[in-house]
Amino acid sequence: MTIDFDNSYARDLEGMYLPFDGAPAPEPTLYWLNEALAEELRLSPETLRSPEGVAMLAGSAMPDGASPLAMAYAGHQFGGFSAQLGDGRAMLVGEVLDREGHRRDLHLKGSGRTPFSRGGDGKAVLGPVLREVLIGEAMTGLGIPSTRALAATTTGEPVWRDGQQKQGAVLARIASSHLRVGTFQFFYARQEIARLRKLADYAIARHDPDLTGTEDRYLAFLHRVIGRQMALVAQWVSVGFVHGVMNTDNMTISGETIDYGPCAFIDAHDPAAVFSSIDSQGRYAYGNQPLLARWNLARLAESLLPLIAENPQDALPEVQVVIEGAEALYATERRQRFAEKLGVPQSGAEADDALIDGFLNLLTAQSADFTLSFRALADLARGDEVPLRALLDRDPRLDAWVQEWAARRTASGDQMDRVNPLYIPRNHRVEAALQAAEQGDRAPMEHLLDAFRDPFTKRPCFEDLETPPPADFGSYITYCGT
Ligand code: AMP
Ligand code: MG
Repeated sequence: MTIDFDNSYARDLEGMYLPFDGAPAPEPTLYWLNEALAEELRLSPETLRSPEGVAMLAGSAMPDGASPLAMAYAGHQFGGFSAQLGDGRAMLVGEVLDREGHRRDLHLKGSGRTPFSRGGDGKAVLGPVLREVLIGEAMTGLGIPSTRALAATTTGEPVWRDGQQKQGAVLARIASSHLRVGTFQFFYARQEIARLRKLADYAIARHDPDLTGTEDRYLAFLHRVIGRQMALVAQWVSVGFVHGVMNTDNMTISGETIDYGPCAFIDAHDPAAVFSSIDSQGRYAYGNQPLLARWNLARLAESLLPLIAENPQDALPEVQVVIEGAEALYATERRQRFAEKLGVPQSGAEADDALIDGFLNLLTAQSADFTLSFRALADLARGDEVPLRALLDRDPRLDAWVQEWAARRTASGDQMDRVNPLYIPRNHRVEAALQAAEQGDRAPMEHLLDAFRDPFTKRPCFEDLETPPPADFGSYITYCGT
């Protein structure tokens, strides 16, 4: 089997990865294939379903044309720096040019131990792999930049997790690149400045080609990455998404969401919401994400200093300005997202933020469901106040807020529905679908995937996905590195 790869990472960035062929799987079996994405990538679903295709998707045998490798990267994990992380259970198979001519990585996760594995087994198991499938597709349906799953395969090998035997699985994931903040940190920490420059020029050629060869390109590049990330985090916040492990190795240069480990969507609105079992301090809580994203971007800025000026000290003032500008960029993005959700035109930062925060404070005070509250506002715009009253009626501040909102609203209820999703990956539904899938019943997962393709349009067949978890679902805990 030959795939028409064009492997720029392998070709241009020697010394920044280690060749790695994947680990043979005893019995690679296709579990799920994203046919629409395959077509978008100009990969034939029939080829991917063939024994050679499945072997590739499982990391078991590489086709002609691949330049398989494990990437080097570093990262701040929960604030502490690890100078060497890298693809410990992942590999880049190759790059394809999609139907629109965009370069996309075909990457595997769970494909065996690499030289970067440290103490890990290099494996992944089916539940978490399908979780990445579900959340990546949901994000895509929501219009939020994200890596996406091309396929999930089982390897036929048992993998031990928490004293239990699970089904080994591999996620084939597509990204517009796997360049991370941590990739830059790796070479900066080693003071390998020539490589750092090569990496930055590669990233620019790939993500900001208009900056290629320009004099101030590294500073401009930093500015672009900050812009993409601030826009991304504002989108996360606007749908109630909590990434859960925003370490610098899990933050892309492209502005795509990556690494769906302990992530979750909030039901009740709560800025302090944390789901990850290891985030005991709430570092990556729902409401902290903008701040932590900026912290990560400051680490990128630091890593680019030697490229911005010969003497990094000289670059500090202008880099400082760019980093400080991130806060305002985020505020603007957030204002846009939430003004749209409320169906009001923007009229000025202070007034807009007061209206937005006024509503969010009402939700927090009553632990109201975030997703349903915005849909209820659209109902109110159509003249039906029952849903909103049911969610928020106990608060005496509601009437005053509604009055102000009604005076400013210009969008119709139907227009508001188009930016306020009804179907999000609610934790209880995701959990139930994954448990069923692990037992061989894919129907609940397919049901969710069908709904997530268009999360904005109410359809009777998805009524079961509208509601928050039952009271006995309890607090939800997610786990890393599974
Ligand atoms: P993550 O928390 O998934 O972003 O991973 C952080 C780092 O740990 C990366 O370098 C991963 O490659 C590595 N890692 C996570 N799980 C495993 C595993 N089971 N085996 C080897 N390396 C792993
Ligand atoms: Mg990661």
